[in-house]
Amino acid sequence: MAEIKSINPYNGNEIETFQTHTPDEIRRILTKADSRFRQWRKTSFEDRSKLMIAAANELRGNKEEYASLISREIGKPISQAIAEVEKCAWVCEYYAVNAANHLADESIATDARKSYVSYEPLGVILAVMPWNYPFWQVFRFAAPALMAGNIGVLKHASNVFGSALNIERVFTRAGFPEYCFTSLLVEKEMVKAIIENPVVKAVTLTGSGPAGASVAMTAGENIKKTVLELGGNNALIVLKDCDMEATLETCIQARFQNTGQSCIAGKRLLLDEAIADEFLSSLVKKVKALHNGDPAHPETYIGTLAREDLAEELEAQVLKSIRMGAKLETGGKRNAAYFEPTILSGVTSDMPVFVEETFGPVLSVTTFRSIDEAIDLSNRSKFGLGVSIFTRDVTAAEKWVNRFEEGAVFINELVKSDPRLPFGGIKESGYGRELSEHGIKEFVNRKTVYIK
Ligand code: NAP
Repeated sequence: MAEIKSINPYNGNEIETFQTHTPDEIRRILTKADSRFRQWRKTSFEDRSKLMIAAANELRGNKEEYASLISREIGKPISQAIAEVEKCAWVCEYYAVNAANHLADESIATDARKSYVSYEPLGVILAVMPWNYPFWQVFRFAAPALMAGNIGVLKHASNVFGSALNIERVFTRAGFPEYCFTSLLVEKEMVKAIIENPVVKAVTLTGSGPAGASVAMTAGENIKKTVLELGGNNALIVLKDCDMEATLETCIQARFQNTGQSCIAGKRLLLDEAIADEFLSSLVKKVKALHNGDPAHPETYIGTLAREDLAEELEAQVLKSIRMGAKLETGGKRNAAYFEPTILSGVTSDMPVFVEETFGPVLSVTTFRSIDEAIDLSNRSKFGLGVSIFTRDVTAAEKWVNRFEEGAVFINELVKSDPRLPFGGIKESGYGRELSEHGIKEFVNRKTVYIK
């Protein structure tokens, strides 16, 4: 057993100390989760829907309370934390309404009298989740998993154990039976043993590449399915015929919301040379005007990073890129876990802010002369989560869609998740999909039934 502290990154104050679960406690919880599965899988979609709607109501009814802890645990501006909790309610409602349709038997005409696919739950699914959207990342897994008849166990990031327990509380208060959803308070070293436990049938991880590789290796050795949602280095491609004012606002939101700590953030701005000077000078003005400060204040847009070491890492990427020739347009300074909103121009494809994922409020700017060059720059990344293109000529833009090595292409919009649309990446951004009908079908047995 170890002690894990939740620390408020804005003021360094300790929020709470948690005792981790012992290996015996984990085995006991997993056994109870497995027994629960045998009951839960027999419940109707109607009964599950009622509970999921109750979870949505619990979230909406107490959004300030849940958001307050999110904000304190990761330094997230309170208004954005409230929006995160509301989005979790939305995903609960979405699956409460749609799960039965998504998982209805699928009839397929063959030589048989009747043949079809039936979708059945797998059992206990382990979710290993990151801190950056401590509620949303978990709910987008939990809502479909529970509606499909699976059981969820969560290993949350070690700096957000308070949020992990709050999520368990949401399901308890909504009336879900015990052990439908449990938070295991464990460090990453325990994950291997949890995956190896025969009760666990599959694993989903959202987080960094090394964490994904490690989890997938253990799961592979044990022939258990994985879904991996890993890093991203999305490009924002801005063409000279864009609606400049709207594009500026969208690009700022794409890069700076959640203080830049988002896998789908637009991290690399690729700017048409013809409008580069005008666009960049407006962008710098607007970014300088972003409200920063106390995350608890409703006006704050830029909070602190979730931990000081993350801010130090970001600073190193920025400083190295400047040494390699990038121009600092604004920002660049760090104070403990706070990092100023930063724009670097003249970025080339060998600099850290272009090659690596920057997990904080730093936007790199590179210019291009042709759409071919822009597509090539966008694809010059080991990640493949998503890309945004800004242009008034949406007919032309739609023709470029299949040239991008990405899980998503958004035209005139930032890449964002939506319960109705599949979400996920290719290349080192991972594999599998969350959300929509695609997401709920990741952790089910697609049983073929043939009747002669
Ligand atoms: P992280 O260090 O990979 O941690 C994510 C989770 O994995 C945490 O619960 C962590 O536990 C655990 N973990 C870390 N190493 C592990 C290992 N070797 N074995 C088992 N579990 C391990 O990532 P992070 O820094 O929290 O989050 C940022 C990363 O997540 C970024 O790369 C970001 O792009 C990515 N992300 C991706 C998406 C997406 O949907 N594609 C969404 C959000 C974030 P501990 O906290 O105990 O270390």
